[in-house]
Amino acid sequence: MTRDNPENTADSTQATDGGSDTASGADDVALDPWGSSTVSDYRKLFEEFGIEAFDEVLGEVPEPHYLMRRGVIFGHRDYRPVARALREGEDAAVLSGFMPTGDPHIGHKLVFDEIIWHQERGADAYGLIADLEAHSARGLSWDEIDEHARDYLLSLLALGFDPEEGELYRQSTNREVQDLAFELGSNARFAEFEGIYGFDGETSVSHMQSVVTQMADILYPQLEEPKPTVIPVGPDQDPHMRLARDVAARMRYFKVTEAYASFEADAGERDHLAAAYAALSDDSDAPVRCVDAADWLDAEMAPDADRDAAIEKLREAGKEPLRPRVRFLDRNATDAAFDALIEAVPGEKRRYDEHVDAFDMDRAAAEELAREVEVDHGGFGFLPPSSIYHRFMTGLTGGKMSSSVPASHISLLDDPEDGYDKVKAATTGGRETAEKQRELGGEADECPVYELYAYLLAGDDDEFATEVYEECVGGERLCGGCKEQAAELMREFLEDHQEKRAEVADLLDDLDIDLDADRRGVPGDGH
Ligand code: SF4
Repeated sequence: MTRDNPENTADSTQATDGGSDTASGADDVALDPWGSSTVSDYRKLFEEFGIEAFDEVLGEVPEPHYLMRRGVIFGHRDYRPVARALREGEDAAVLSGFMPTGDPHIGHKLVFDEIIWHQERGADAYGLIADLEAHSARGLSWDEIDEHARDYLLSLLALGFDPEEGELYRQSTNREVQDLAFELGSNARFAEFEGIYGFDGETSVSHMQSVVTQMADILYPQLEEPKPTVIPVGPDQDPHMRLARDVAARMRYFKVTEAYASFEADAGERDHLAAAYAALSDDSDAPVRCVDAADWLDAEMAPDADRDAAIEKLREAGKEPLRPRVRFLDRNATDAAFDALIEAVPGEKRRYDEHVDAFDMDRAAAEELAREVEVDHGGFGFLPPSSIYHRFMTGLTGGKMSSSVPASHISLLDDPEDGYDKVKAATTGGRETAEKQRELGGEADECPVYELYAYLLAGDDDEFATEVYEECVGGERLCGGCKEQAAELMREFLEDHQEKRAEVADLLDDLDIDLDADRRGVPGDGH
């Protein structure tokens, strides 16, 4: 991993739309939360990391945000439970965090908007300042952190975050987050950190602590009660999401699975058991014996490792009846919790040393019961947290949008005139001459100015965004006028945003968040 890059990579990475032919290789898709890797091909993220295309859930989202409609939010992990909760007016939460390493800019605005959108649809909303991470992994002093933290929060409030309904905090002063981080740390291993983040013997302990803190941030909305929670982030944060989902599962008291007999079977074997059961069971009450299922698999199914393993287990079970059931495996439960679970299972059940089988309930009901008992007995009952991923914005000068190259990005604090000038000076997807542009059309897909329209300037107005696109690729729109229009819109946006920032300053002062931490210490060196 690259450790010496001072960028906030959350938006320092170049976005191209799939088809680019950059040299393939691990670097293209390496997801490194502290590095500067670029994402050259978003599709690879689906294949290599199991991120799902957002398109596939779009239809389940009530009145999707324009960033969702336009494919800026391109991917997700397990967003369905959140979409369902929003649809059905059930509990849900949204949380994201910001490293206060510089000014908040238009890349951060995407995430601010995502948080606010979920909040407006009823989710509990959280915005946090990742000050521990900025101090240990980015080497910022506490003074710098205090100053930037204020700017992030002002912009979040100015864009519409409701602090009465939601919560803003900084990692360092949230005692519950710290306690949770400690707890989660018991279930995270250094070897994993090596594998996931490339940590090694040189990595500072505080940097590692900032990772468990992020795990705690992600699960914090579920402390009071488990609920579907979405974390909107850039894809560079996906390693954190995968770890958080794993750690959340490891904290659970029980694991619920489906089973067909007293023995354990993995998913592949289970498919065979299910097939045999479906073939052999009939309306009569006669039980299907395990040996008979083994014979059936032997005769009817092509041999493979799963089938053979299933047959072996079935033969060993002999005359035991094969019967579908849900199984509660004891993972971390206290004895009292395990007993209470057994007591609570309705209908026919069978108790074993390390698990209990229930014959009269379905999987979903079993999950719910397991969670209830866990929470009643001092556990967390976490649902695996979900995430949505937005594309990184292209820099105005082409290449990466980078906080350390002022011309490449527009800070939310930029003087509106500077914002205007930066847009006017931006590179475009235009042709060398107006004549060629009329003939061939512009390359809106390669144009940072078009991105500004789609990601920000067109706001909720899809028609306007489409019009810019169509006019550009159709050769009716020339870059000079197009940039003039974008530059004016940017100036207006910045004026308006900064006015709102001034208006919410009092609101921020009234909040219970310490922006003058006055901490002492020596920043980490980024290792
Ligand atoms: Fe970009 Fe506008 Fe030029 Fe098209 S016309 S390439 S959108 S600046």
